[in-house]
Amino acid sequence: MKKRFFIVCSGFLSIVISINCFSQQKLTPEFKIGIAKVSINPDTSLINNYKIWLAGFMKRRTATGIHDTLWAKAMVFDDEQKRVCFIVIDAIGLMRDDVVDIRNRIDVAHLGINHVIISSTHTHSAPDLIGFSGPNPLKSGVNQEYLNFVKQKCVQATKDALNNEQSAYLKLSIIDTIPEDIVVDERPPIIIDKSIYLMQIVDKKTNKPFGILMNFGIHPHALDAENTLITSDFCHYWRKGIENGIVYNNKLIREGIGATAIFANGAMGGHITTHGSNTYDPWLDTSFTKSGFEKSMTIGNKLADIVLQEIQEGNWAIVNNPEIRFQERKFLLEIQNKRMIGIDTLGIINRKFIDSKFIETEISLLTIGPAWILTIPGEIYPETLIGGIENPDGADFTENPVEVPPIRHLMSGEYNFVIGLANDAIGYIIPKTLWDKDAPYAFGKPFHEEETSIGPDASSKIYLKIKKMIEEYNYINSGR
Ligand SMILES: [Zn+2]
Repeated sequence: MKKRFFIVCSGFLSIVISINCFSQQKLTPEFKIGIAKVSINPDTSLINNYKIWLAGFMKRRTATGIHDTLWAKAMVFDDEQKRVCFIVIDAIGLMRDDVVDIRNRIDVAHLGINHVIISSTHTHSAPDLIGFSGPNPLKSGVNQEYLNFVKQKCVQATKDALNNEQSAYLKLSIIDTIPEDIVVDERPPIIIDKSIYLMQIVDKKTNKPFGILMNFGIHPHALDAENTLITSDFCHYWRKGIENGIVYNNKLIREGIGATAIFANGAMGGHITTHGSNTYDPWLDTSFTKSGFEKSMTIGNKLADIVLQEIQEGNWAIVNNPEIRFQERKFLLEIQNKRMIGIDTLGIINRKFIDSKFIETEISLLTIGPAWILTIPGEIYPETLIGGIENPDGADFTENPVEVPPIRHLMSGEYNFVIGLANDAIGYIIPKTLWDKDAPYAFGKPFHEEETSIGPDASSKIYLKIKKMIEEYNYINSGR
């Protein structure tokens, strides 16, 4: 009898335990991340037949070869309630119509993905995906076969990342300042966002990172218009240094972490670049001002070195089981730049204008616990992001700046990533009070950014949309 009672009790106990385990599983969703990378290098037959036009520098160049691999790198964040995919491609930019096409091809609903963010590193040595860099001003530089290939690869990267999902946690940190000799602001006022926002993605079982997101605002301009080889510029050396270590003359200078390194550009407008910087290479004991692969390697390795240093000695916040939240806003922007309207009429750029003078664009806010990731559809100015907007005498408009306080002050995450050229490539987002197309000029000369901006009112409209989205996000989540 006693034995039977014991069996009944233990049976009851095991039911209780299993109910407990079940309810615990329910209460603690598993946070997972998947990462994948896929080459988006064009087929050599396209290059050999001079069918690839390199984007950027307003110069007409056909690609003559491949120096390093262009990548589509995808991360899928999954808290079992929401799943968001974030892809970064090595390209000058990608228009929103193409981003929407990629989302449709991914079949987000079927895969249970709530949203897909696609941003570009802004390398100026990759095939033109926008249209400005064709054989002549009347012809698009986009090779449709290559564009279609990039879209297929983004779909593949997403699916691979999904298949690679594993239990993970985050480590977050910010590098406050970068070596002064890397970056130049070519357009006054001189304001540079010198911080690098970092997110390590760590395997929960082994405590080893298998991915790292690095967010910093800068034009990859270590190569210039003379270069005709396909390359992601210093992004290649930076990511390679993190992944495999920093190597000079076959000698390992600093060990890498073996994790997939992803660089997402930030506030690069206004005009933040490596062009003209005199960068010292401590391992070669030489400085490079002239553009070229040596300078590209020096900048990439210096950035890799400070990130590896931060990984080794930095103060990292550990984030377990964060909740994913997501907001997006779509809206119309008026094309005030008549040159742009002409370009659309000629079919040079890869997007549809609405009523010949509007485009639909988007902003979004992805929050993963204390990490906030804001996406901006073009090249935002550091002045708008971290402060320092002026209305100098000589600028075309006299009024108080709308973009105050700066965007990062509006964000209330503990780690506020801001991703430029995300989900669209609308060009420079110039604050109206710095718009300076007509003489007299505030800083003695005109600058080129107005040529590739859609107009002086875009910046304030985007800023106000961001402000409202963040206010609504805070309101929705205030009671949670
Ligand atoms: Zn640019």
